[in-house]
Amino acid sequence: MAKKQKMIVTGGCGFIGSHFIRLNLAEDNNTTVVNIDKMTYAGKLSNTTDFVNNPRYQFVKADICDVDAMEDALVACDIVVHFASESHVDRSIHTPQVFVQTNVVGTQVLLSAFKKYANPGALFIYISTDEVYGSLPIGVAIFTEADLLKPSSPYSASKAAAEMIVQGYTKTHGINAVITRCANNYGTHQDHEKLIPRFINNLIQNKQLPVYGDGLNEREWISVRDHCKGILRIIKAKNQRFEGEIFNIGSGEVFSNMEITQMLLEEMGRDESLITYVNDRLGHDRRYAMDSERFKNKFSWKNEDSLRASLSEIIAWYKSSDNNLLG
Ligand code: NAD
Repeated sequence: MAKKQKMIVTGGCGFIGSHFIRLNLAEDNNTTVVNIDKMTYAGKLSNTTDFVNNPRYQFVKADICDVDAMEDALVACDIVVHFASESHVDRSIHTPQVFVQTNVVGTQVLLSAFKKYANPGALFIYISTDEVYGSLPIGVAIFTEADLLKPSSPYSASKAAAEMIVQGYTKTHGINAVITRCANNYGTHQDHEKLIPRFINNLIQNKQLPVYGDGLNEREWISVRDHCKGILRIIKAKNQRFEGEIFNIGSGEVFSNMEITQMLLEEMGRDESLITYVNDRLGHDRRYAMDSERFKNKFSWKNEDSLRASLSEIIAWYKSSDNNLLG
């Protein structure tokens, strides 16, 4: 029988981390999962209720910046999937120091514990973002992994800095690491401050939808399910050695904020009178879009979901009384 693997997931009470743990527990019987989460405003135990009693799951409430706690938790681990982050761009404009602390210092603390205590050959996956590239002009090309990083917000700058720390540890200490840069995720269990859950909640309450600037900022959108399946593909290839290799993970589906707003209005049977234009976000990037061919080819992965077809399921989830985020 194959040896059981110990997987550390950081930020597993958040949006993507909780989806990833659910998928992993369902698909891989050979792994025990330790979820390390500080439970910030974005961490919700309710995101874990359906797997909290799984015998292969354990929750550790801890800050990734806590050296002792990370050194304890990472002993004899085989995989780290590092999602924990301050992730909201708007918050990073007002409290950038928290972003540097968690996203940069926290990543360094984890890497240091990983270097000391992980099993030989263990894999560290750093979940980064397409926002590290900065902005593309509308209609122009797409980013490849070879493009320069030009982050525009304290959030994206802290994610780019953490990528550099991962690469520094990879080169200096020979750590086996992969960096993924993913597009905007959509799905259930997302914090209500983010665009899609926020607009769904506003529409449930018949409130206005505050659209930044002219609403024409474009983002690439991928389902959280497709993203998590992609991460599982990397783990399946764990026996290969990675030297901080970077992979874009996107769907090719690019929408402006206004297109998303209109899709939500249509799905929820409302009209454009509910749109209010508000002052643009400081440093608001105009367009993100990526070339994800390297990832698709390397890991035989392809995205399966589309945003439009997924919206009714997502709206139903936010509407259901158990999942009501209004309170
Ligand atoms: P989220 O904000 O929903 O969840 C973050 C989780 O990290 C929360 O559970 C929070 O409690 C935890 N956390 C925060 N600080 C911590 C700390 N110091 N120690 C331990 N836990 C801490 O975020 P998300 O949307 O699930 O994003 C997960 C990762 O994916 C992030 O690294 C983000 O940069 C990246 N990402 C997100 C998107 C997206 O569209 N949501 C897109 C690309 C990349």
